[in-house]
Amino acid sequence: MIKKLTCIECPKGCMLSVGIKKSRVIEVSGNECPEGRTYAVSEIENPLRILTSTILAEGLDLKMVPVRTDRPIPKFKMLEAMNKIKSMRIKKSVRQGEVIAENFLALNVNLIVTREACSRSEPKF
Ligand code: SF4
Repeated sequence: MIKKLTCIECPKGCMLSVGIKKSRVIEVSGNECPEGRTYAVSEIENPLRILTSTILAEGLDLKMVPVRTDRPIPKFKMLEAMNKIKSMRIKKSVRQGEVIAENFLALNVNLIVTREACSRSEPKF
C-alpha cells in the first residue's frame, strides 16, 4: 500500500510517497532530506500529537482553563487523555505555564496551563 503524506518538518512541505506493509514503512520517496523519512516512519508507525484542551474551572475568573501537553503524546492515547481531562477540575489560581498534571497518564509528559486563571476570592497574581 502506498500512502501520500506532506512532510511538515520544514516549510518546503515535500510530498512523500510512503510504502507500507503490515503497518510498517518499507519505502519513502519524495523527501529532499532524511528528516522526511523520519517523519513518515513516525507518522505511520507511531503518530504523535500535542494535546490541547480545556479543563473546567470552579470559582475562577475563567469558566474553562486552556491546557496542553508540553510534548506530543501518541495519537492512540488521545481519547483516554480527553476523558481524563473531562474529569478534572481547577479550583485554585493558576499561572500560565504551570504544571497541572505531572507525568500525565504515565506518558512522560506534563499537562500545563496556557492561560492564567485567578480565583474570584483571592487577589490577582
Ligand atoms: S523532507 Fe526534508 S526538505 Fe522536505 S519538507 Fe521534510 S524536512 Fe523539509
